[in-house]
Amino acid sequence: MEIDGYEILIIKSKARKKTVQAKLVGDRTIKVLAPYRVGAEYLDDFIVKSVKKLSSKGKISDTNEFLYKRAEMLRKKFIPEAPDFEIGYSNSLRTTWGKCFISDKNIVLNTKLKNYPLWVVDLVIIHEIAHLIFHNHGKGFRSIVSRYKLKERATGYLLAKGMKASDI
Ligand SMILES: [Zn+2]
Repeated sequence: MEIDGYEILIIKSKARKKTVQAKLVGDRTIKVLAPYRVGAEYLDDFIVKSVKKLSSKGKISDTNEFLYKRAEMLRKKFIPEAPDFEIGYSNSLRTTWGKCFISDKNIVLNTKLKNYPLWVVDLVIIHEIAHLIFHNHGKGFRSIVSRYKLKERATGYLLAKGMKASDI
C-alpha cells in the first residue's frame, strides 16, 4: 500500500493486544504495528492520520533566495518537466540529506549542506526534484538524476561524510 509517496508496511501481531503504532523507517516507509484483530476501518483511519503527522516532520525551517534561484536553475537545466516547488533548509532532518514532500511540492535540505560545495548540494536538489516526478528510486528516477554529470562524484562526497543515509 502507498499513501502520498509513503510505502505503508503493516505488521500484525498476535502478541500485540491494544495499541496501534506507526513509525517512519528511512524517509519513505511507514511501518505500522497493529494487533492481529484490529478493525480494518480503524486501521485505515489511523494510517491516514499517521502519514499526515509523520510527513510533516522536517518541514522547511529556513529558506533563502539564493537556494530558490539555484534550484530553479537546476530544474530548468536538468528536469524541465518537473512542477513548481518550494525549497528550504530544515535542521530536523537527521538521517537524510534531503526530503521531498510530494503532495505539498516542498523540498527540504539538511542544514549541514550549507557548508558543502555547490556541486554536491546540486545533486541533492536534483535528487529531490526528481522525486516530484517519481516517488521511488526506480529506473525512471535514476535516468533523470543521471542527467547530472557530477552525480557519481557528488554521491561519493556525501558517502564520505558518513551519514547513515537511507536516501541520498
Ligand atoms: Zn530519494
